[in-house]
Parts: sequence; structure tokens; C-alpha cells
Amino acid sequence: MTTLTTRAAELARVRKDAVGCRRCDLYRNATQTVFGEGRASAAVMLVGEQPGDVEDAEGRPFVGPAGLLLREILGEVGLDERRLYVTNVVKHFKWRPKGVRRIHDKPNWSEIRACDHWLRLELAIVRPGLLVCLGATAAQALLGREARVTRLRGRLLEPDGLDARVVVTIHPSAVLRAGERRKELRAQLATDFSFAREALEA
Ligand code: SF4
Repeated sequence: MTTLTTRAAELARVRKDAVGCRRCDLYRNATQTVFGEGRASAAVMLVGEQPGDVEDAEGRPFVGPAGLLLREILGEVGLDERRLYVTNVVKHFKWRPKGVRRIHDKPNWSEIRACDHWLRLELAIVRPGLLVCLGATAAQALLGREARVTRLRGRLLEPDGLDARVVVTIHPSAVLRAGERRKELRAQLATDFSFAREALEA
């Protein structure tokens, strides 16, 4: 049986391997690989789309504005961060220039498929019982290209080919971009995380 120490060591080795990844072109314009973080034996894995501007600079996932919102909501619903592993489908920041700013650019399917290599290794090592897909890119990467957040929210899924149950919700950055609907989308995200916590405790 694999010990926790071995799993942590495997994760550290894979993280190191990903530093020099050239499986797609996204490394060219990004600062660094942003690998997942958290417990090697986490009960829950949160999967987002890709690192943002702040994450690219700091080399850590979910440390920008969306990550702050995420942590706020995790605290509200009582999901202990020590039980989590957080990562992204794509490990390099894809962006386009807008003036002096770097604007998020959605990864395409071939980039998602290329980076799936790392996500599957994270899944195989951490072996979470519950996966939370944050947004459409994560849902499609893990459940298939036809997956839609609006159709899958509020359900506890047990998909073939994944040794974990899955909950789908919106990405916290969608809340930040929601304008007048911000309060409504924030409430949706909190509801979905309450549902995930209940699924974990059940
Ligand atoms: S996005 Fe993923 S597959 Fe592409 S270079 Fe970066 S780590 Fe490798």
C-alpha cells in the first residue's frame, strides 16, 4: 500500500517534471508552470481552468482575486482547506494583451488535452473521493466535451472512468465578472459548495 509520504514524494516529483513541460505552446508566453497544491491525500480536489495573471507571477494556483473569493466561500460553508487539493486543467497562463494588461484567453481543446497528462497524474496520486469542477473547462476536461455547467449543477455525479464522485459549479471568476448578477452568482457558488461539503460528509 502506498504510504502518504510516498504519495507526497510522487507529487513532488511530478510537479518538478511539469516545470519543463513543452507538451503544448502555452509555456512560451507564460512565466512558469503553475502546478496544483494541497494535501497528497486530500479528500476533495478542486479543479479550475488555468492560472490567471497573479498565479502566473507567483507560481501558485488560486492566489488571485478568484482564489480569495473561493477561500471566503470555503470558510462560509465549512470546507476545511486542509482537506483540499486545488489545481487547474491547464498549468500555464494563456493570455492576450489589452493595452498594458494581460487578459485571460480561454485554452483550446488541444491545449486542454495536452495538459490532461498532468491532471491525470495528480488524480492518480491524490485519489480524491470528491472532485469539484469549477466552470465549463474543468467539467468538459473531466466529463466530456458536451458537459454543461447549467445542466450539471446541483447533482452528485459518478462518471465512468473516474474513481471519484463529481460536483460541477461555476468558476469563481464568473462571479467577479457578473456585474449586476454578482450577488446571485455568488450565492450559487456558495450553494454548490454547501452541496459538495454535504456529499463529502454523507
Ligand atoms: S499548458 Fe500544460 S501541456 Fe501545455 S506546456 Fe503548460 S504544462 Fe505543458
